Amino acid sequence: MKHTQIEQIAGREMIATEERYGAHNYHPLPVVLERGEGVYVWDVGGKKYYDFLSAYSAVNQGHCHPKIIAALTEQASKLTLTSRAFHNDVLGRYQRYLCGLFGYDKLLPINSGVEAVETAIKLCRKWAYTQKGIAPNEAKIIFASGNFHGRTLGVISASTDPSSTCGFGPFVPGYIVIPYNDLERLAEALEDPNVAGFVVEPIQGEAGVVVPDDDYLSRAYKICKERNVLFVADEVQTGIARTGAMICCEHSGVRPDVLILGKALSGGVFPVSAVLSDDEIMLSIKPGEHGSTFGGNPLGCAVAMAAMEVVQEEDLIRRADRMGKIFRSEIESRLVTKSDWVELVRGKGLLNAVVIHDTEDSSTAWDMCLALRDRGLLAKPTHGNIIRFAPPLVITEEELMDCIRIIVDTIGSWQPL
Ligand code: PLP
Repeated sequence: MKHTQIEQIAGREMIATEERYGAHNYHPLPVVLERGEGVYVWDVGGKKYYDFLSAYSAVNQGHCHPKIIAALTEQASKLTLTSRAFHNDVLGRYQRYLCGLFGYDKLLPINSGVEAVETAIKLCRKWAYTQKGIAPNEAKIIFASGNFHGRTLGVISASTDPSSTCGFGPFVPGYIVIPYNDLERLAEALEDPNVAGFVVEPIQGEAGVVVPDDDYLSRAYKICKERNVLFVADEVQTGIARTGAMICCEHSGVRPDVLILGKALSGGVFPVSAVLSDDEIMLSIKPGEHGSTFGGNPLGCAVAMAAMEVVQEEDLIRRADRMGKIFRSEIESRLVTKSDWVELVRGKGLLNAVVIHDTEDSSTAWDMCLALRDRGLLAKPTHGNIIRFAPPLVITEEELMDCIRIIVDTIGSWQPL
């Protein structure tokens, strides 16, 4: 048997082992990866792929970026975790650097994206009771339909996606869910004096890269301010240069009152997330009222600082903007206008999606992703008939054109299986 055949069998066995011993809470594309570098990943058989998911936009800086890995290994050999029972010599430096970079007074460090969203919800409530004067336990938070903020109970309680909520009730009260991209409904909801905050994704990534109207965020921000309601941006997926700006709200000239970051904050190397805001809001939470054993650990802080330096040193904001424009215009002219299978391409920077002309419950997009995999490009459908294309931002123009060729060849000549 040839070496690659042996490795393929090994890959199948690894999938079977996961299936046998792992909870069935995911449905991964059948490919087993063992190595990554920049925009590339390799499977256990040695086959090389372009990564067009970037771990849901966590690996913006590219896989195993040498600078971030150096920061990780250096810090790992010195000190990894102190808990917040003691100070460590990296946390303050990290907070000062991030506050300077994003323009806020304070940063609260936490680990995963969903924990950062939970933190922001708690912060809104605490601020509402201590600063805005809402009566105890009466605060409400507004969310937009189609949202994805993670998987905890506090967060799925705002979800309108049955696959997130079905069978997990009862849910957390105090939420109002209005349609996304609907300013009238937002204004109506804001008439309730007990509203503390409006939590919104500037682009809804998991919903299928849904981009709102150009003036949606700026007008939403304005009406929140008129009602003394906190505007909270969940930039876990859209932040850190992904959309061609450091945070997506910048495209709309909006500075959120509360900014939520995660994923690429650490270049996908370590779970690091953060909530940023100014003193008047952040200091409503007092010592002992919120935290996490791992939040603010020196390893995560060192990794995140290096990851953010990479974004600046490698000019990833401009690169994402330029490559994204090329991607959309090429896909528009070579695929959308030519193939009956493709409805549209949409997105900002390098967060893009192609909507496949088929029903949400069809397997067409999944089958296309399998065919793309066979041609050396990894992407994953979201919501059945939408394929998200989000490569690491370090992709070169030559690599991007090669990827566009693979996508156009695969989808453009699509024959149902
Ligand atoms: N918020 C948004 C906008 C996301 O896209 C995600 C994950 O995809 C999350 C929050 C949750 O992040 P995590 O999976 O790190 O908890």
